[in-house]
Amino acid sequence: MKIPVIDLHADTYAHVVMNEKCDLKKYFHDQCTDFESFRAITNSSMKKGRMILSVQSLFIDDRYCHCALHQGLAVLSRIRSEIDRSKMLFLCTEASNLADAPKDKTGIMIAIEGLEVIENDPDLLSVFHALGVRMVAPTWNRPVAYVGSCLHGYGLTIKGRALLKKMEQLDMIMDISHMSEPGSLEIMEKYRGKVLASHCNARAVKESSRNLSDSQLSALHERGGLCGLNYGQCFLNEKIGPSDEYPTGFHMLYEMIEHIASRYSIDMLAFGSDHDGCTTGPGLENPEFYPDFADFLKEKGVSRLDIEKIYFRNFQGFWQK
Ligand SMILES: [Zn+2]
Repeated sequence: MKIPVIDLHADTYAHVVMNEKCDLKKYFHDQCTDFESFRAITNSSMKKGRMILSVQSLFIDDRYCHCALHQGLAVLSRIRSEIDRSKMLFLCTEASNLADAPKDKTGIMIAIEGLEVIENDPDLLSVFHALGVRMVAPTWNRPVAYVGSCLHGYGLTIKGRALLKKMEQLDMIMDISHMSEPGSLEIMEKYRGKVLASHCNARAVKESSRNLSDSQLSALHERGGLCGLNYGQCFLNEKIGPSDEYPTGFHMLYEMIEHIASRYSIDMLAFGSDHDGCTTGPGLENPEFYPDFADFLKEKGVSRLDIEKIYFRNFQGFWQK
């Protein structure tokens, strides 16, 4: 069953840029000499999965923290030039871009993951916004001046409050992925714009500091936020083994869907693959699995409307509000 798909988080271009500059072997197989052949997200896999929107991260790894602004702009420039070169891709900066797009096109939304790229100056967000950025996860796993990461438990700082104001002015989407629990709870209380978690799962199903606690999920639910499910094997329940003809990853992902839908609401679910940024559960390696996964969900008794909500409707509604 081919249903349009929105994916709230992937690291494709961030890794393309980093791997062109340096050692391919660090991220991929020893024998890899061609990054393109190891990309999960390509024009062809997006077409097969019927992706209508891929949110791509401006992420930099530790080696580039000394020149974060430069590296952030390098990734941004690469995303923009890929879009310009491709007949299939378009830059998505507003909900209406998505609604008006022809069926065979895929939108790319640009999102910051880790505010190192603005080098302690929230005003620079205006520049990134002008260049097409619409979503910001203030933290990756490193300490930043604004709010603690899930590995550094501090909350919102004074500088963080200035950041919230700036993001509100620019009407940017706040992404609490990778954020500390106290920081994210405070932000969900204070931030007046839209809030979601682009690539996180439920900690009640899989213990991990990167997954959301019950309090975080419940605050997100109250705020009308979304939880984009992460396909990373280490963020899913690895105890699930093969049980039928469907890949194990389908069952792992379904366990998260069932937990969040039954405890909170199906209306807060979305996908946040983390493709090209993690090792996924079996069967979830690239967007080509989406049509089979829709069949699997149908067999599990999930209605067509609910499948559509997870696949694209929830985010469309969230962005249009
Ligand atoms: Zn991430």
